Amino acid sequence: MIYLDNNATTPADPRVVDTMIPFFYENPGNAASRNHPYGWVAEEAVDYAREQIANLIHVDPKEIIFTSGATEADNLAIKGVFEMYSRKGNHIITCTTEHKAVLDACKKVEKMGGEVTYLDVKGDGLIDLDELKAAITDKTVLVSIMYANNETGLIQPMKEIGEICEEKGVLFMSDATQAVGKIDVNPKELGIHLMAFTSHKMYGPKGVGALFVNRKNPRVKVTAQMDGGGHERGMRSGTLNVPGIVGFGKAAEIAMKEMKQDAERLSKLRDKLEQTLLANLEECEVNGNPAHRMPHVSNISFKHVEGEGLMMTFNQNIALSSGSACTSASLEPSYVLVAMGVGDELAHSSLRFSLGRFTKEEDIDYAIEAVTKGVNHMRDLSPIWEMYKEGVDLSSVEWSEH
Ligand SMILES: *Cc1c(COP(=O)(O)O)cnc(C)c1O
Repeated sequence: MIYLDNNATTPADPRVVDTMIPFFYENPGNAASRNHPYGWVAEEAVDYAREQIANLIHVDPKEIIFTSGATEADNLAIKGVFEMYSRKGNHIITCTTEHKAVLDACKKVEKMGGEVTYLDVKGDGLIDLDELKAAITDKTVLVSIMYANNETGLIQPMKEIGEICEEKGVLFMSDATQAVGKIDVNPKELGIHLMAFTSHKMYGPKGVGALFVNRKNPRVKVTAQMDGGGHERGMRSGTLNVPGIVGFGKAAEIAMKEMKQDAERLSKLRDKLEQTLLANLEECEVNGNPAHRMPHVSNISFKHVEGEGLMMTFNQNIALSSGSACTSASLEPSYVLVAMGVGDELAHSSLRFSLGRFTKEEDIDYAIEAVTKGVNHMRDLSPIWEMYKEGVDLSSVEWSEH
């Protein structure tokens, strides 16, 4: 089985798992227990992990709030800012290609009486900075734009967005889940005030994540979304997931040392995969601006081939994602690709390849062969492909409803 779905989740690094194990057995303490050594050991381990994670993103450890993952961190940032800054205004700006954790938190904000502007993206997947500027009003409290997109790997112009927010005096939040631990992310340099990320997309365990909350110039606060013991400076109650946090910390430490070399190796493999597929197969397109992309991601549309069907041709051997999302009733084309103007049909024809630390060159060679074969096979069976090859203008064909 070849795993090319690292944007969905990464396997834990064995070095991470090794550091976690003692915190299930010898050191099972609650980090909030102040009156015995079990508690002290746990607290110390959490403090250490907080430092490892803060170092990775160049912030103060006090600015890290632990959560159960990026979904919770996104919710805490968006709803928490909306509630905390309600006297200043009720308007939030985000964009249409965000992760559902951001979009659905924004929908909830609308139900709570807020107003949300959803910026469109251009054909290359990036937002238009002039549109962002024009959207900011004196009621705007937050701009939330993701760092790197999970489906395409596209990196938004963070520095420019940060400058606009600074100039207009609004808070800037970013879901950086797909970027942290893969490329150098420096929220302070970019003017990001709140930033969500998660352990299980950077070779750590699932169920633990963090929200960076800027503490000085400006001092940012969010309203807690959970009531309880007042952990995490009152912003996130709940007993800390000590083994998870220890693993997250170790994952951050490893990333800090190795992400540069990982990225270099993976970008070469990704380029090999992409270039060979494009050379082997006609009518393929890479989705998104290749100059603004994460090094390990490639999203390709194979014209006149249905992505889910293509995956079936090698389903038993390669794990990856298609540009179709399963809803209860039907297969929907990816809203991210559709927002980029890719079109329903090409969105359904796309595959997302996301490589990771444990991807080997043989895996890529295997994937190239399997995808090439699969696409050719699907096209051989396709009357639409045959018509296309015969030069029929498919847009002029009137399809019957049967
Ligand atoms: C995976 C992902 C999330 C959700 O993270 P969890 O830790 O699984 O809740 C949020 N945003 C982006 C961009 C993601 O890729």
